[in-house]
Amino acid sequence: MTVELHPQFKTKSGEPITIGAGSGTAVKALKRADPTNTELLDGIVDRLTYSINVGYNHLDTAEVYTTHPEIHKAVVKSKAPREKLWITTKYIAASPHVGKTSGSPSKFVKEALEELDTDYIDLLLIHHPFFTTDSAGIELEDAWKELIDAKKAGHVRYIGVSNFAVEHLKRIIAVSEKEGKEYYPVVNQIEYHPYLQNQSEGVVDFSKEHGILIEAYGPLTPLFRITDESGNVIEDHPLKPILPELSKKYKKSEAQVLLRYVLDKGILPITTSSKNERIKEALEIYDFKLSKDDVELIDTEGAKFPYRAFFKGRF
Ligand code: NDP
Repeated sequence: MTVELHPQFKTKSGEPITIGAGSGTAVKALKRADPTNTELLDGIVDRLTYSINVGYNHLDTAEVYTTHPEIHKAVVKSKAPREKLWITTKYIAASPHVGKTSGSPSKFVKEALEELDTDYIDLLLIHHPFFTTDSAGIELEDAWKELIDAKKAGHVRYIGVSNFAVEHLKRIIAVSEKEGKEYYPVVNQIEYHPYLQNQSEGVVDFSKEHGILIEAYGPLTPLFRITDESGNVIEDHPLKPILPELSKKYKKSEAQVLLRYVLDKGILPITTSSKNERIKEALEIYDFKLSKDDVELIDTEGAKFPYRAFFKGRF
């Protein structure tokens, strides 16, 4: 397996980072359903351990997922050296939607280092820019300055953001400009798939022009997440007949085609599955590439059916 994307992002021991193994979405729902069910939580640890063992070195977590302990257990169980892994976590400001949180990025970093039982976080993101007056009294610029301070203190290797639009990026870049190049955001993690090629207007181009790597969450949305407002599955959408054809042509599953499409756009996908075979399959995308024509076909057909699965009504 050759991982060729974005050589500037490497684990501490120098390996390029793979696509991400997510620990949000499904995991959060499971925990919410029954936080005391240790069997479920052990299952999460097993899946993360399996991910590391089959070759993922990139683990995605967040304050709001409450999966730091599971990430830590999986790292221990896998026996993978810490410096060969890339752990991303995300600070979230308190809001009526998420409830009480750690409060400030500096408090969050302290808690995260303890829960992950590690000396450093590879990538720390601000989870979203929708700070409100209830956001523990913290403004976006203040929060970003705390991320910069965490990097200066050596607690985090890289800093970035998630769900940021151009206007939010400009606000934090203005703060970074006073501090120097190494304190610019390096990642913007957003919803990205053929049906949402820009989470907000111009964000992908702006990020790329400013050297900010886009990470894609929800990359498999066209496969199973297309519903109407009442939650009824919509069967008729432009990629429905095209994905099976591409799957046949490349001898890869439809999920692999979608993940490869994201990589071929110069974007790094993060994916999740509760099934070991799918976890393994998702990583088997470094041995093929889609042709330019096929990437364009997916672009064109995808653009005909704009669909947002996350943060509806926020953009
Ligand atoms: P995906 O689009 O990859 O969706 C994962 C889902 O796809 C799982 O429920 C899985 O179900 C299903 N799936 C996986 N493989 C297949 C397949 N071959 N065929 C059909 N269905 C499949 O990514 P997520 O939306 O889960 O996002 C990935 C990660 O990104 C999250 O875990 C989280 O870490 C992060 N994230 C970040 C957000 C942010 O605001 N920054 C928001 C949302 C997510 P099954 O278990 O049955 O395989």
